[in-house]
Amino acid sequence: MAVQQRRGSKTRKNKRRTHYKLVPPTLVRCPSCGEYKLAHKMCACGEYNGRQVVEK
Ligand SMILES: [Zn+2]
Repeated sequence: MAVQQRRGSKTRKNKRRTHYKLVPPTLVRCPSCGEYKLAHKMCACGEYNGRQVVEK
């Protein structure tokens, strides 16, 4: 098992984490109702891929 030999500094930790960041969710407009929705998810109006998949 790998055993840590030396305690790292806060600076090194923080520098390593400079690439960590939140990414905003991809929002697309629903073609039928025009609402924003998450990509690859069904819209709140029940439409997906130009087809009514859930009845209201
Ligand atoms: Zn919709």
